[in-house]
This record gives sequence, structure tokens and C-alpha cells, in this order.
Amino acid sequence: MSFPKHRPRRLRRSEALRSLVRETRLTTGGLIYPMFVCPGTEVRTEVSSMPGVYQQSVDQIVEECREVEALGIPGIILFGLPESKDARGTSSTSAQGVVQRAIEAIRKAKLKLLVITDVCLCEYTDHGHCGVIENGEVANDPTLAILAEQAVSHARAGADIVAPSDMMDGRVAAIRAALDENKFADIAILSYAAKYCSGFYGPFREAAQSTPQFGDRRSYQMDPANAREALKEVALDLEEGADMVMVKPALPYLDIIRRVRDTFDVPVGAYNVSGEYAMVKAAAQKGWLDEQRVVLELLTSIQRAGAEIILTYHAKDVARWLKP
Ligand SMILES: [Zn+2]
Repeated sequence: MSFPKHRPRRLRRSEALRSLVRETRLTTGGLIYPMFVCPGTEVRTEVSSMPGVYQQSVDQIVEECREVEALGIPGIILFGLPESKDARGTSSTSAQGVVQRAIEAIRKAKLKLLVITDVCLCEYTDHGHCGVIENGEVANDPTLAILAEQAVSHARAGADIVAPSDMMDGRVAAIRAALDENKFADIAILSYAAKYCSGFYGPFREAAQSTPQFGDRRSYQMDPANAREALKEVALDLEEGADMVMVKPALPYLDIIRRVRDTFDVPVGAYNVSGEYAMVKAAAQKGWLDEQRVVLELLTSIQRAGAEIILTYHAKDVARWLKP
């Protein structure tokens, strides 16, 4: 392959040519929009570090869901800000919980949106950790039953997919068994299989009010330096019954997305997290970046790395930009 016989620029001469040979085509059909549901009615509070993202009461969530569906986005993922928190995150399993009520309201509104729920304890525990605390540590096995109960309560309310994000060992198996026992064999599991202990979650913790009150999450979330370990985590989750797997965050872990894509034949998702969103928003507000251009470039890079499902706060904007 040598010049002048080969001239790659021949295929870049016009938009029609570039479109013809384009390898990655970002579509709205692969996007999931994350939403934060809080108590009350007619509540819609913008998260200061995430412009355009709101903590909303159930009625407002339903309204935004109508908009999301109209834009052609196939699904949402729900996070809950409960009325009360305790050491064991018990409000996370309540049929009257904010997430459960939001799911029911979305179902009642006859929306066709896929409703995915985040399954974890950190939004519901007063200490802010993703599991229960025993002897000053996040205890793995006692956490599993609560996560499983939470997943079943989401399924009972009408969720299509549950997405455990806690990073406890064995949670997927516990959730699968509990769903099956309760006649929810058709409810799928999207596991946060390779979730890294990342500084990019900062704005989310404001949005979900889930900052750990002591210590950090390094004893359960993955070390950013590890790649081979991510493949082990994914393999374990699939063995335990995960239908789809996710890498989180997305942009600093494109190599992980690629390795997972190349190693496993299941749908792969990536979570373009709050900090990734906030960086773009802040730079765009200052006029330092062209928001539309960089967002489309970033999401294309996540898809090119191998993720066919992208969870992103940019979803609504992207759906508008991609509209023919
Ligand atoms: Zn958590």
C-alpha cells in the first residue's frame, strides 16, 4: 500500500463520500437517559454541577419521560432520592419508595419507554456506602439479600431491566435467583460489571445525595489501573446471569470497553458519567468548546470503542441533533 496509487483522501472529498464509508453511526436507538426521582409533587430542582439535569418528583418525571419517548430515546434509568435513609437502606425496598412509585406512574402513562432501575444502597443508606456496614467495613454477603429484595420491588412496580451498580461480589446471582423465585424470569439484568472507583462521579453524588460519610469506595469499586480484572468481573457477572454488561465511566475507560466488546458476545453498555458531562457543559458555557460537536465526537468514540448502549445525560440533546 503506497502512494501515489493509494490516496486515502479520495474517500474524504465530500460529505456524501464520507457518509458512505463511515464506520460508526451514532443513533438515538442506543441511548439511555438517566433521571433522578425525589419526593414531593411539582419538584424540579436543577443539579448545579449538571446543567439541564434535574431532581424531580414523580409527576415531573412522567412529563419528562413523555418528552424522552417523543425524541425516540428507547429507555431511561432511574435513580432515587428517598424520603428517609438508614444504616441498611431499607427504604430502597419499599413498594411506596420514590423509584417504585415513579415506575408505576410511567407505566400508568402508557409510555413504551424501557424503564431501567439502578439497584444499589448508596442513595438509601445514611452512611452513603453501597452496602451495609459491619465492623467498620462494607459487608458483602449481608448486602446481597437487600439488593435482591430491592430488584424484586422494582420488577413488581413494572421495571423492564434492573441494573445493579453496587459492585458486591455475587449480587447478580442473588438478584437473578430472587427475580426468578418471584416469577420475574423475564426481567433482564444489566450489570455495572466493570465499575471503577472514579473521580468523575463527583457531580452525581450531588445529584443523588450519595456521598460516603466516611472512607471511600475503593474496597468494592475497581482500581482505575486495572484492565484484566475488568474481564474477570464481566465473566463472573455473565456466569451469574447478567444479560448485558456495562463499563463505568466511559471516556477514561475506552480501552476497557473495547476489551470487553472483543471478549464477550453480549450487549455492552457504557455510562458516560456526570463528571464527563459536567466537563463538557462547563467548557461550553465558557465558550471554550463547541458543545454539539464535542458531544457527538465523544459519544461516537464510546460507540467506536465497542459500546452499543450508551447511558448519557446528553441523550435528549443528541436525539435532537441527530433528527433528520
Ligand atoms: Zn452505590
